[in-house]
Amino acid sequence: MPLKKSPVSELPTSYGQFKVIAYQDSAGDHLAVFKGELKEDLLVRIHSQCITGDALGSLRCDCGQQLNQALKLIAKEGGLIIYLQQEGRGIGLFNKILAYHHQDQGLDTVEANHKLGFKDDSRSYAIAALILQNLGIKSIRLLTNNPRKIKGLEKAGISITQHLPLIIPPNSNNSAYLKTKQEKLGHIL
Ligand SMILES: [Zn+2]
Repeated sequence: MPLKKSPVSELPTSYGQFKVIAYQDSAGDHLAVFKGELKEDLLVRIHSQCITGDALGSLRCDCGQQLNQALKLIAKEGGLIIYLQQEGRGIGLFNKILAYHHQDQGLDTVEANHKLGFKDDSRSYAIAALILQNLGIKSIRLLTNNPRKIKGLEKAGISITQHLPLIIPPNSNNSAYLKTKQEKLGHIL
């Protein structure tokens, strides 16, 4: 399915005034939320949807806090958030909750995904690269702790001129999860 694109709309938020463009492909509906001019070397966060973390304030992961930090920073400095509809590292919301159940029984996040027959991380950043290209951006300063995201984007032709970490202090609910992300998925935390 070819990438569909909406016209631009205003998006006032509690963080500040943004603009938003929606995109649609076979994987779902994605958003480009931005402030200021879309230009080279833009400050960018590519965020995969996490309903439990982003909307419900779940402390099982650090997604909500990462999004919050990115929105604050981009409201201040200008930049772009690409919000991708790939819930639960790409396995979908239903399967993510199944994986949580397995984690409650003692498995870590990677083992739980394997038990359900999924890879460690089923996300693809090709759609993010397509959205950046559609917006006329070839080089970005990326807010991420995930080296796979950097590699995936570079493979898709986006140049990462700077890599900026998002530091989220662990809490008692997510410290094991964050440790697994660091040890098994190579995240820089
Ligand atoms: Zn999350």
